[in-house]
Amino acid sequence: MSSPDAGPAKADKPVKPVKAPRAARRPRPSFAIGSVKVRPGHASEVGLPITKLVTGSEVSLPVRVIHGRHDGPVVWVNAAIHGDEVVGVEVIRRVLATLTPRTFRGTLLAVPIVNVHGFMAGDRYLPDRRDLNRSFPGSQRGSLAARIAHLMMREVVDKCEVGIDLHTGSDRRTNLPQIRADLDDPRTRSLAEAFGAPVMVHAKVRDGSLRAAAVESGATVLLFESGEAMRFDQWAIEAGVDGVLRVLAALDMIDTDEAVDASPPVGLVSRRSGWLRAGRTGIVHLDATLGQRAELGDRLGGLSDSFGRTLRLVKADRAGVVIGRTTAPLVNRGDALVHIAEIEGAEPPGTPDHPDAADGFDALDEISVL
Ligand SMILES: [Zn+2]
Repeated sequence: MSSPDAGPAKADKPVKPVKAPRAARRPRPSFAIGSVKVRPGHASEVGLPITKLVTGSEVSLPVRVIHGRHDGPVVWVNAAIHGDEVVGVEVIRRVLATLTPRTFRGTLLAVPIVNVHGFMAGDRYLPDRRDLNRSFPGSQRGSLAARIAHLMMREVVDKCEVGIDLHTGSDRRTNLPQIRADLDDPRTRSLAEAFGAPVMVHAKVRDGSLRAAAVESGATVLLFESGEAMRFDQWAIEAGVDGVLRVLAALDMIDTDEAVDASPPVGLVSRRSGWLRAGRTGIVHLDATLGQRAELGDRLGGLSDSFGRTLRLVKADRAGVVIGRTTAPLVNRGDALVHIAEIEGAEPPGTPDHPDAADGFDALDEISVL
């Protein structure tokens, strides 16, 4: 790199070479993971051994390491802890395609498929029906889930200061792009805002989850929910790609102009949400769309019998924004239909012209028409 001021035009007396800063003189150390060491300015893939199949083939946890030439934070991004949640796998593929190790600052550990067995089978769980995201921090001698959790903690999470865990809705439910995180922690909140999802939900950690174990070990963690299991919805993927790149930019790991729209609208904040449940068994027709605003009592759809006779209307049980909904055609009494998040700072019912609320909801218009 050359500076325009350093040219020979000014050289009537010999120019003393500028002493390079210390960091530049001493190259960054290599990054060690599993059996490999990744040199600065390089990317490498490693398979961390999990177990063997009955055929004798190795099953390993695939990790791609982008070890930037320059110093910076160590961050992980993972997907498919639930094996059927494929949106995040595609998010990571697209994020990796934009990164260049030579210009990258810091280190990114990308783990696109944590639940390898579940992903291969198109299943949320491991073969013994365990939920990997209830098995953290795991142990070396426990169940298969516990062993994978332990490997993920030791080789990935424990080396990182920030992590992003990508999920989708499950069981025929689809989610509005949203961050779930501890919004009372200032660093977590600022990264959640940088991600720029339409909604940020303050969520307590769940025992046994990756997020709980990672926070316990000192990492700052964002959980991203977007879309539905076993589907590649473009809007769900794009919200994830943009968000991850904006977090990397906020951490100064990539230049701002590499990230799309570095300053998205600030997401709405929710600290309370609930699923509206089916009042009886029936065929469900939902008018509610993701990102839509609802007032208490608003009609969001109906339940009918097999001849189309309406059995029950589906009405909002609270005011808020629709952040999830079922995609199932038939529901049983008690099944979850519509997830409504109450919005912090939103106006109480009856004052629809509150200016702050109007600004916030504008940001959701794009999502609601998808
Ligand atoms: Zn999940």
